[in-house]
Amino acid sequence: MSELKVGVLGLGAMGRPMACNLASAGLLEAVWNRTSEKALSFASEYGSIAAASPAALAERCNVILTCVSADDDLREVVGQVQTALNRGDIIVDTSTVNPGTAKSLSVQLAEFGVGFVDAPVSGGVEGAVRGTLSVMAGGDSADLERISPVLGAISATVTHMGPVGSGQATKAVNQVIVAGVAECVCEALALSEKLNLPSVRLLSVLGAGAAGGWFLEHRGASMLEDRFDTGFKPALLLKDLKIVRELAQDLDIELNTVDAAIRDYEGLLAGGNEDNDISGLIRLKRGSETGK
Ligand code: NAP
Repeated sequence: MSELKVGVLGLGAMGRPMACNLASAGLLEAVWNRTSEKALSFASEYGSIAAASPAALAERCNVILTCVSADDDLREVVGQVQTALNRGDIIVDTSTVNPGTAKSLSVQLAEFGVGFVDAPVSGGVEGAVRGTLSVMAGGDSADLERISPVLGAISATVTHMGPVGSGQATKAVNQVIVAGVAECVCEALALSEKLNLPSVRLLSVLGAGAAGGWFLEHRGASMLEDRFDTGFKPALLLKDLKIVRELAQDLDIELNTVDAAIRDYEGLLAGGNEDNDISGLIRLKRGSETGK
């Protein structure tokens, strides 16, 4: 592949900042988003091209970075770009989906001579904005080598985990920890409120010791201020946890924290909260959200 011409498909909370960083790196050719206003406003702000359709995006680009919600959405958009891509082009998917979906799309795209790399990311919207995500990649080493400037523009670390699907398998493991930590931090901070502890000093002392971590550091203060506006929607984590549960069932392993978190996010969503960050889980732990 000569010059990299990257198209970003999906300008949501994660896709948009990734597209910004690709534009800053001089790699972005064009964008497409289902809700076209988002693509038009991005294109006018960054001097990029808003493609009229996924196929039009694919015609202009030799690497398509996808960032859509879930498995069916990814299958749909890949179906829309696959015939417009040329042999040797690569789709790099940063969405979180089932490893089986990544593997089957890779086989499907191979018939068109198009490569596929599963490259789910961790580090939140903040990581996407700063270009400091952790990428867990699955795919062919030669494909990864060719797209390394693309992944380099959006991340601080890229780790090649193995063949296609192993990036998503790694992300499933990551989400067990993300969900478990969110459960604990939300319960702990709900308890701290009942104990009337001073919030600023509490976060400072917890963060300085063994309880510190990403979720407490990035979401602790906003949770205690009852703000849940940034970040990661509960429905997306619920989708991830259902992927994890399916993998665990196939492997006959019990994941009690995942089962509890699935119940909690289903409850949270039953009470609304669709557009909140997952840290809105504290509302359920406080008992201020019944989940009914
Ligand atoms: P989001 O803000 O809800 O954005 C979703 C994007 O997917 C939007 O651009 C949406 O288009 C597009 N989309 C959904 N279904 C589509 C379809 N059928 N056809 C075409 N486009 C479609 O979600 P996000 O937070 O960016 O997350 C995107 C992916 O990254 C998810 O798989 C998520 O699990 C993963 N992820 C998220 C985070 C995070 O902190 N947010 C972190 C790591 C990984 P519209 O604008 O038209 O709705």
